[in-house]
Amino acid sequence: MLRVRREFTMAVTACLVGVAGCSQEPGSNSGDRVRAEQLLAAGEDAANWISHGRTYSEQRFSPLKAVNTNNVDELGLTWFADMDTARGQEATPLVIDGKIYITTAWSKVKAYNAATGEPLWDYDPEVPGETAVKACCDTVNRGLATWGDRLYLGTLDGRLVALDRDTGAVEWETVTVDQEQNYTITGAPRIVDGMVIIGNGGAEFGVRGYVAAYDADDGDELWRFYTVPNGKEDDASPDYLQAAAETWNTDVLAGDTSIGGGGTAWDSMAYDPDLDLLYIGVGNGSPWNRAYRSPGEDGTGEGDNLYLSSIVAVRPKTGEYVWHYQTTPGETWDFTATQHIMLADMEIEGKTRKVLMQAPKNGFFYVLDRETGEFISGEPYVPVNWASGIDPKTGRPIEIAEARVDITGKPALVTPGAMGGHNWHPMAYHPDENLVYIPAMEAALLYTPAKNWKADRAIGWNLGFRIATEDLPSDLNFRREVAGAIKGRLIAWDPVKQEQRWSVEHPGPWNGGVLATAGGLVFQGNSGSAFNAFDAQTGEILWTFAAQTGVVAPPVTYSVDGEQFIAVLAGWGGTWGLGGDGEIIAAQAPVRNISRLLVFKLGGAIELPEAPDFETLPLDPPADKASAETIALGFDKYERYCLACHSASAVGSGLIPDLRRSGALESRSVWQSIVHDGILSANGMVSFKQSLSPEEIEAIRGYVIHRANEDKAMDAQRKAE
Ligand code: CA
Repeated sequence: MLRVRREFTMAVTACLVGVAGCSQEPGSNSGDRVRAEQLLAAGEDAANWISHGRTYSEQRFSPLKAVNTNNVDELGLTWFADMDTARGQEATPLVIDGKIYITTAWSKVKAYNAATGEPLWDYDPEVPGETAVKACCDTVNRGLATWGDRLYLGTLDGRLVALDRDTGAVEWETVTVDQEQNYTITGAPRIVDGMVIIGNGGAEFGVRGYVAAYDADDGDELWRFYTVPNGKEDDASPDYLQAAAETWNTDVLAGDTSIGGGGTAWDSMAYDPDLDLLYIGVGNGSPWNRAYRSPGEDGTGEGDNLYLSSIVAVRPKTGEYVWHYQTTPGETWDFTATQHIMLADMEIEGKTRKVLMQAPKNGFFYVLDRETGEFISGEPYVPVNWASGIDPKTGRPIEIAEARVDITGKPALVTPGAMGGHNWHPMAYHPDENLVYIPAMEAALLYTPAKNWKADRAIGWNLGFRIATEDLPSDLNFRREVAGAIKGRLIAWDPVKQEQRWSVEHPGPWNGGVLATAGGLVFQGNSGSAFNAFDAQTGEILWTFAAQTGVVAPPVTYSVDGEQFIAVLAGWGGTWGLGGDGEIIAAQAPVRNISRLLVFKLGGAIELPEAPDFETLPLDPPADKASAETIALGFDKYERYCLACHSASAVGSGLIPDLRRSGALESRSVWQSIVHDGILSANGMVSFKQSLSPEEIEAIRGYVIHRANEDKAMDAQRKAE
């Protein structure tokens, strides 16, 4: 296998120098088609970025060095393109032969001349606005895959779409999920040898996770790999699912009110062509609280619940299970292992090891043997209080009992919290420095068991926990204290020594994905609306650009006619941007969303137009007249059905309308027409009448009015300073 790959690599390197000559290469029917050879040799193809993580190893390292530590101060904007969506932008662009292809919020695709910014085509899959309520974490999309002369896109409503790369015309599309259930796709497909591989999300909504492969030619499904059992396994079921069923109390999974189990694989994959193994990152349980998902005698639930929070290796041709490593056995904290999976070869204790690396939500940085799944090492990259370490013999975390919450017990303040020590934002690896750059977060979460909890798979989150706190004091100083305890850092991590070499603190927790280059640079945008270049060795900021908006997407770099470009899709959003910022927004100003593709080169001299003023309606709510009992009921329902989009404490993020400033607060009937009758469903605000009674909807209005009045008082406090 290795020998064949090397031959391919040499042929293809020659091929990429002069694309026209490529037509003679085996397996390549025309010059501009992407085939297995090109994907295998993506590392040597410095000009292009043809795969989500640039290479199958997903290192996000570019050999380009025309832009480097000596001249990065001459970097400037050379073109930009405004987007027609103002939600979170999380995509990694692909760059193929001088053209750049991006996806935006709402699963749209756009193509440009990569050197000049000339628009070439765009495609809108017309995802229904109502789909937004199925998405845990904004209407984002993280990118494309390419094969032949096509691009492949997963849409928020669960379709896989093949587009002609030259025109954006639809070649085929196939529905990959049961659209009656709350499945979504936000991740980028991966391609292995003519198969398009895609997972899905929805573990907050009661789905059962899987990854499937489709024929790149016609969209036929080739295999499907379920990540969790359904409790109905028998001797005819695949062995790996029979084994998984042994680790669950399967009563709930198999019951009529099954909660799906979760384990969605919504983002990370990597591929080792020599070992012929595809690695899949598996997400959290559904619901989060194991006590409700897999009940046990001691009140915290029972079993490891495979393959939640695991890295699973499968054969890409068949979807056959090969090995797994579970980062968080019996996960109950939303500790997904869907975070970036990265492959590298490195010397550890005198031996060259083929390793797989991941910094999942649970706060430990893992180095595994990617041939066997054997645990090599794991140390915390952020403060961790749910486990004291990892047993080197078993590879299992040594849990701290107080972090596990039972159904009736007291809440637990756990760090990292559900946002993770690291979320979906891609890391990058610099092979010369042997450093992994982690966009890390420090944010604890108070997990309060939800008493007498019942699943509701129709609409809203299914957690089995309360994650917002009703009695958070509406005091400006307290809110600032909470905000101050939440941090974001770029960490340069030595994976061999398992220790930090340097770190840089950001203005907020939710920051951009990372790019590393042979020019000795690391690029990353942040929540402070800056796009920065760091010295890869030291973390010194060498260059900064005022992006006017929070940047969460990862940058890429490419070259056209020998000139190096750096591109990043700017635009604030994603789960934290949409729903997680309550305390911080209450203490500071919201981060703005101005969605744009920004492209830089040495000597670039374009300026962005002046940012328009942020329109803020006055905070002028009706009088706070609801009873304490009504407000408590309103909080209870808000927390379960509204928080994910409208933020904790009803503090709007700026991405969607701020409820505290809504004119609808004035009128019971207008409020009912929106929340009960769904008159704004085309905008994504669907009817909640199947899950909420008119009285409960009215109680939510009372709660939001109450919160708005509290914040109006805090605003007065702020202005008096
Ligand atoms: Ca989750």
